[in-house]
Amino acid sequence: MKAYKHILLAYDYSEGNDQVAVKAKQLAEQYQAKLSMVHVLDNIAMPDSSYGTVINLAHKSKYPALEQQKTKFLSLRQDLDIPLLNCWLIWGNPKLEIVELALQEQVDLVIVGSHGRHGLALLLGSTANSVLQYAGCDVLAVRL
Ligand code: AMP
Repeated sequence: MKAYKHILLAYDYSEGNDQVAVKAKQLAEQYQAKLSMVHVLDNIAMPDSSYGTVINLAHKSKYPALEQQKTKFLSLRQDLDIPLLNCWLIWGNPKLEIVELALQEQVDLVIVGSHGRHGLALLLGSTANSVLQYAGCDVLAVRL
């Protein structure tokens, strides 16, 4: 079986996503792969376009809603013990940003949950389904 070199965990804070994170950690250890993590912000208005699509985690903005999201994301990063350089907080559309980031960072396995915030009524969540269709690499959907 192919050894993965770069695994990307797509995290959305929905119930059960910790299970997805644990699986990503386990697989990264098993394959001795680099582990990256992404959360796409689609629930807050982007206050100022000068911050760009990728949020600078080291830069303090003047927007409380964004700072709140950063604090939450950085605390998750600490819990999972993932280097800051491998952590991506991106503003945009989760379906597009996850696929784009995976391509840009030469990820060879994306790990998503079968269901998150958008897909409870579906067989496979809408983000998970889209990543599965459009990612140029393997995708693992952890059944939740
Ligand atoms: P959904 O398709 O929205 O039900 O979500 C399925 C899975 O896609 C979740 O368990 C996450 O792994 C991933 N996902 C959904 N939304 C996001 C997001 N905003 N940022 C990162 N990953 C996400």
